[in-house]
Amino acid sequence: MKEHCGVIGVYSLNGKPVGERIVKGLEALQHRGQESWGIAVNGEPILKGMGLISKGAEDNARQILTLKGNHGIGHVRYSTRGATTIGNAHPIDIQDGHFAIAQNGTIANTEDIEPLVSKEFKLQGTTTDTKLAGLRLLQHYRGTKNWTEAFKLLSKELSGSYSFVILTANGEVLGARDEAGYRPLCIGYDEVSNTYILASESCALQAMQADLVRDVDPGELVRLSKDGIESTRFAQAPRHYHCPFEYTYFAHPSSKIDNQYVYEARKELGRILAKKYPFKADVVVPVPDSARPAALGYSEVSGIPMEEGLMKDRYRRKGSLRSFIEPTHESREEIVRRIVVIKPVVEGRNIIVIDDSIVRGTSSRSIVRSLKEAGAKKIYMVVTFPPIRHPCYMGIDFPTREELVAARVGDDHLSISEINTRVAKEIGVDEFGYNDIQGLSKGTGLKENEMCYACVTGVYLGLKKDPVLRTREEMKA
Ligand code: SF4
Repeated sequence: MKEHCGVIGVYSLNGKPVGERIVKGLEALQHRGQESWGIAVNGEPILKGMGLISKGAEDNARQILTLKGNHGIGHVRYSTRGATTIGNAHPIDIQDGHFAIAQNGTIANTEDIEPLVSKEFKLQGTTTDTKLAGLRLLQHYRGTKNWTEAFKLLSKELSGSYSFVILTANGEVLGARDEAGYRPLCIGYDEVSNTYILASESCALQAMQADLVRDVDPGELVRLSKDGIESTRFAQAPRHYHCPFEYTYFAHPSSKIDNQYVYEARKELGRILAKKYPFKADVVVPVPDSARPAALGYSEVSGIPMEEGLMKDRYRRKGSLRSFIEPTHESREEIVRRIVVIKPVVEGRNIIVIDDSIVRGTSSRSIVRSLKEAGAKKIYMVVTFPPIRHPCYMGIDFPTREELVAARVGDDHLSISEINTRVAKEIGVDEFGYNDIQGLSKGTGLKENEMCYACVTGVYLGLKKDPVLRTREEMKA
């Protein structure tokens, strides 16, 4: 089971209720998950719902306003394994209130954890890796009576990615980031209300009127309690594996992750692509929304004006949602159909389309078709992420090779220029250009030896064991 989601943890030291504040934070993390939401505050039952948090907050306003607890956690979900059901929404209760846990990430070796917990707990109906990890953590905590020691033991057993937030029965909020640092997690503080916050991204801190203090270090456990904030280290890795997909697509452009602004990274990636692929055209057009800064960067270097030739139709149902993180092919397609072409921008002109990544290729094909129908002459396309040719087991939903267009076009020995030519043909553009690992590293500011690129190479060095290949049906069961 893997989850690529948004998490929040809040502790108000002056005793103020935190329910509304968690909602604000989750709204700011909506881009990380659109399927379900959940809030757990001390002294109250866990509140969960399907769909967007803004709708959930509206429908449950009375309940949220009456939440009295001064500390709690929250979650928005994007499932990459496990069904989209209310039962799988986080936070997940572990053994009737021992603690509530929410995760961003993927546990890639659930087959190792399941036998360890099934000896003690009934696992009927369990489909999330978070629940398995939570039950295993409980076993270690019972044995050690110490969270850091429990995490030390757990981290040795887990292979994969996790940024956990936990609400304990003892009046604490915990935040833990795996030692490879795949997924982001940061600490914020609001001086006015003396409140500490843990959040997947700093954009949530902004929405919660808090300042970014720092990132949670890989392998660090942060404990928020009535005594304030404490930090301990539970694991150390020889190197980190930060996910560059966070910078190119997933994270909010206003966020700062591991000391790098996402917006700046995207713009720089566009500049790099302009030097690598200096196509001659009349206009640069970003695929909305995440490729906009990259298009600005490309335009800046090439001198070709950027225009909004493609726009999301925000007034129609689902028009403003993100297609990639939708759970089904049908819902992804529905969102792509909501991208409208602005005819006067493209008609009779040569166009450079910029996108953040190409996964299945279906969205790109559909966009190219619409551009041609609107009268575009030559169409070039560049993407900021290198060819995605292998599944991700660390929290992003491209689970099987046969779904990936860059894998479908040929074997692992193809050069980038050969892949470019074949993908151009697949999606129907005149010329095509992928970024490479070096360009990705330069643009994101992540050193090559601090960055994961397993989905490009198929080498999963950051995992403790080789991942078990599963079909899409198995992942979503
Ligand atoms: S495999 Fe790709 S998407 Fe997954 S964590 Fe690594 S870089 Fe990110």
